[in-house]
Amino acid sequence: MIKAIYDVLYPRRCPICGEIVSPRGELVCPPCKLKLNPVEEPRCKKCSKPIISEEKEYCHDCETKNHHYVKGYALWVYDASMKKSISDFKYHGRREYSDFYIDEIIKRYGKEIESIAPDVLIPIPVHKSKQIMRGYNQADILARGIGSKLNITVLSHLLQRDKKTLPQKLLNDKERLKNLEKAFTYSEKEGDLFAVPIHKVMLIDDIYTTGSTIEACTNILTKNGIDEVYFLSVCIGKGF
Ligand SMILES: [Zn+2]
Ligand SMILES: [Zn+2]
Repeated sequence: MIKAIYDVLYPRRCPICGEIVSPRGELVCPPCKLKLNPVEEPRCKKCSKPIISEEKEYCHDCETKNHHYVKGYALWVYDASMKKSISDFKYHGRREYSDFYIDEIIKRYGKEIESIAPDVLIPIPVHKSKQIMRGYNQADILARGIGSKLNITVLSHLLQRDKKTLPQKLLNDKERLKNLEKAFTYSEKEGDLFAVPIHKVMLIDDIYTTGSTIEACTNILTKNGIDEVYFLSVCIGKGF
């Protein structure tokens, strides 16, 4: 009842066209959903970026860089539609879009996540000043939604992003990774909240592009005794 009244007062907006969802009660307009580009085969066996050649196993990035996570999953290609959707979700207060993303993640990867059986989900943290400005961490909203549907603990503060870093533009690849690693810290206190030692985790984020953030977080987690790191993101760039 309360939800019905709320829906009348604040009708849900479509994460793709930004208009009121039609038909009412859906999370997305069905024709808008068709505009999205799901990540399908052939895709990179490591990061899951769509690739052109069926003969290739890995994308250019994964072929040339040694990523230390085990495997990654993503739902949609980061194209113009998703760019707008994610930007509204992140910067323009459209928190409700996460309901659609989470629903689709569970439909597509719920079984796979359950079979990986991560001990905990970890959202990629944003810097405190950004979180205050936006009012929330978009990755945390996603992780909490997925965690509650699959019954997996979410440790939102295991990784913290509390240091400002040098602008990445000025640095080469190796320096970039080192620079990025400095931005994050691992909270042992938060790790102790989990009753048993953590072995396997899944990082959650909204977009995966070069993988440098995931790599930096993976390195910090493995340095702190975590054996296996997976990632899941709503969107991913194209590989080649
Ligand atoms: Zn729409
Ligand atoms: Zn790849």
